[in-house]
Amino acid sequence: MQFIISRYNPQIDKIPYDQTFELDNTQISTDSMLLDALHLLREQDPSLAYRSSCQEGVCGSDGMNVNGRNRLSCITPLSDLPQKIVIKPMPGLPIIKDLIIDMELFYQQYQGVDPFLQSEPLDLQHEHLQSPEDRAKLDGSYECILCGCCTTSCPSFWWNPDQFAGPAALLAAHRFVIDSRDIQHVDRLKNLDSPTQIFRCRHIQNCTDACPKGLNPSRAIQELKSIMVKEI
Ligand code: SF4
Repeated sequence: MQFIISRYNPQIDKIPYDQTFELDNTQISTDSMLLDALHLLREQDPSLAYRSSCQEGVCGSDGMNVNGRNRLSCITPLSDLPQKIVIKPMPGLPIIKDLIIDMELFYQQYQGVDPFLQSEPLDLQHEHLQSPEDRAKLDGSYECILCGCCTTSCPSFWWNPDQFAGPAALLAAHRFVIDSRDIQHVDRLKNLDSPTQIFRCRHIQNCTDACPKGLNPSRAIQELKSIMVKEI
């Protein structure tokens, strides 16, 4: 297999360039993931930089752009990919080195939607109950692992990175707006009600296409818009 990987070391390089690597098919097995291949390539060139941690699709640290689509390398089977694989850092955020991008803005956007429950003061003598039906409404919104595959594939984010919160943050906003225990949902909606916030989403659907957890940020944003129209 051939791997064409974007390389960039800001201390040496003016702009990113491509480096071609090869792996013999005997070096990989039928259940090898792309991350396994990257580990082998790093043995060829120890300067190759990428993030990884859990290697199970849970930590969300190894997002990268593979043949034009953002993916988590640890859950991308090599058998799903062609013999020629082009790997770049996820777009729209500054490159720190090779495939490692600076996620600071992404986390700031997430922080900006207050991604925590704001409920009535808890009575410590009793459980804070939620009906099974209300709990079920959170399915599809709470499972986000903050990998950034959605936000960095979103053209609305590319065009307005400092203003548009992006699909991951808006999915988190949706998760708390619809939580029956949260008492701040009107304020949450007001925070998003601006031309550069939720209405900057054009439902291009790249986010939903890119999400490795099978979530649907685009639908969550559409629901947020509907709730906003009704409630504020
Ligand atoms: Fe990653 Fe999906 Fe969460 Fe976006 S919604 S950050 S793609 S897990």
